[in-house]
Amino acid sequence: MDTDISRKRIYLDHAATTMIRPEVREVMLPAFSMPGNPSSVHKEGQQARKLLEEARKSIAASLHAQNDEIFFTSGGTESDNWAVKGVADALGSSKRHIITSAIEHPAVLESCRYFEQKGYSLTILPVDRYGFVSPDSLAKALTPDTALVSIMLANNEIGTLEPITELSAIAHQSGALFHTDAVQAVGTIPVDVDDLGVDLLSFSAHKFHGPRGIGGLYIRKGTDISSFMNGGAQEFTHRAGTENLPGAVGMAKALELSVAEMKETETHIRNLRDLLIRSVCSAYTDAFVNGHPDTHLSGIVNFSFPEKDGEKLLLMLNLRGFACSGGAACSSRSSAVSHVLTAIGLSEKEAKSSLRISLGRSNTEEEIRSFVSVLVELLKSQDS
Ligand code: PLP
Repeated sequence: MDTDISRKRIYLDHAATTMIRPEVREVMLPAFSMPGNPSSVHKEGQQARKLLEEARKSIAASLHAQNDEIFFTSGGTESDNWAVKGVADALGSSKRHIITSAIEHPAVLESCRYFEQKGYSLTILPVDRYGFVSPDSLAKALTPDTALVSIMLANNEIGTLEPITELSAIAHQSGALFHTDAVQAVGTIPVDVDDLGVDLLSFSAHKFHGPRGIGGLYIRKGTDISSFMNGGAQEFTHRAGTENLPGAVGMAKALELSVAEMKETETHIRNLRDLLIRSVCSAYTDAFVNGHPDTHLSGIVNFSFPEKDGEKLLLMLNLRGFACSGGAACSSRSSAVSHVLTAIGLSEKEAKSSLRISLGRSNTEEEIRSFVSVLVELLKSQDS
């Protein structure tokens, strides 16, 4: 068996992170060597400010938001923390109930639990076997005390898309604010904050071929939210700290490119997805796919292989040149069972037999065929 880890690698873990695009790196380089701080009044400062505001404007246009509703952060985790903690803190004297779902990213779930420990009440809505949050269950959970509902737009492990427009309308009828973690969706599918009807929306550049360490939070004008970082007056006095100018410029370019090429990329990735699922399920008939069969991100394919050891498969695939994931990147270093897979009803054993393949624009049919042939070989060798 060829176990040379240095041979050509095939990257199938785009939901964890993506490679920065050369066009993005190119626009970032001058920003790295600009001397000015966007808060300074001199010419250098104003040049930096101009670039920062152009980046904000471009991102706002992609999300159909106003320029001053886009706040730069250090990434999806900070945006999620800020949305949950900022609203809970701002409304805490009058409303102390938060609602979220069982399949959120830990950045949302742990932020909610943090406030639960501080005495707030927390409702974690269950999901059905596809990972859907039911609008009825949200309607029943809402009370006059609910400050915030936080439900993700697209799940990072199984790709299921939630009915955010319907859910946000229900939350608003009850006077609650609505946040969505759109980290896996922005740059991949069209995202319009007005169509979604959300008050807050998180995104992160490294998920759409932008740089790491930069993301953003959309905050609808008039939303009651505390600052997350205290200090200077940056980001309309809401998020202190000297801005990450190269990051902002790179994120804007990455999003522009992703939006411009979205249809073409989606068609390519959908074809690869269909090939992957067809080939795996016909060669290994015990396999099944988790997540919603129709309402999902094309790029995320989560397989279960009953009776197989997913972690062992992952390690063997790595040795054979394939990078994929056993679940969320943040938890893949621990052998903890995926909270998403158990929430959709998989047994612990089934959840531990799972693999997440996440496809990107640079993957090819040849790579998928090569992956499937090695995967099926490994599955069959575990039989013996
Ligand atoms: N939310 C979701 C759905 C994610 O998939 C991730 C990253 O995997 C995050 C939040 C955290 O984003 P970041 O890595 O930019 O902190």
